[in-house]
Amino acid sequence: MEITRISKSYGALEVLNDCSMSIRKGEAVVVCGPSGSGKSTLLKCVNGLETFQSGSIVVDGVSVGDRNTDLTRLRSRIGMVFQHFELYPHLSVLENITLAQVKVLRRSKTEASEKGMTLLRRVGLGDKAGCHPAQLSGGQQQRVAIARALAMDPIAMLFDEPTSALDPEMIKDVLEVMTELARDGMTMMVVTHEMGFARHVADRVVFMDDGRILEDAPSSVFFAQPSTERARIFLSKIL
Ligand code: ADP
Ligand code: MG
Repeated sequence: MEITRISKSYGALEVLNDCSMSIRKGEAVVVCGPSGSGKSTLLKCVNGLETFQSGSIVVDGVSVGDRNTDLTRLRSRIGMVFQHFELYPHLSVLENITLAQVKVLRRSKTEASEKGMTLLRRVGLGDKAGCHPAQLSGGQQQRVAIARALAMDPIAMLFDEPTSALDPEMIKDVLEVMTELARDGMTMMVVTHEMGFARHVADRVVFMDDGRILEDAPSSVFFAQPSTERARIFLSKIL
């Protein structure tokens, strides 16, 4: 995943200013920074949910900004997990996971269900297949959302503050699933304020402020000695 000199404005408001970063296959990279710094916008640019005015983003050899790129196809190969789980409320947990497999990937119902059950067990929810989302806790719903994304066999996973809306005791379960995913070699771009995850799981940390990438360093280096004053202040506030 290669992000090169991306800039983006909403009218006169510049929200991304000459941002470059890359994620190699199998790497987990945490993006952090103050609210409004452009983290979500950058993430959304990667799978074409937002457009950008200049620069380029190439994912697995496909140029996201290219008007010939089939964005639907690209998105089906990139898993995205948001702060709010956005499960289909009228479908069972298993149906939430099989729907796109059948509709988009044209898998048989049986194959999709088997895959769905395997993934539900993997996120610790093998016994919840028949439940509706409303019957689950926030943390459980978020794990279903992760399983749903994984069911599409994504080449990479994007997370936008996946634990920010959760009660503290549920955060751990979601982070455990994400940690396992990273250890299994999934390519991941994770916007989070969970500095434990950043420190112990991420290969690198990217720090953003005011639309710019100020730091991009191995996580051990970022936490031991951030190179900008801005990151030092940020860390002192949240650690
Ligand atoms: P973060 O995720 O780091 O909190 P965002 O990427 O959500 O930051 O937002 C970056 C900036 O862009 C903020 O100033 C925000 O108000 C602005 N912004 C985000 N989305 C829009 C939009 N659709 N229209 C106008 N401004 C937006
Ligand atoms: Mg955000």
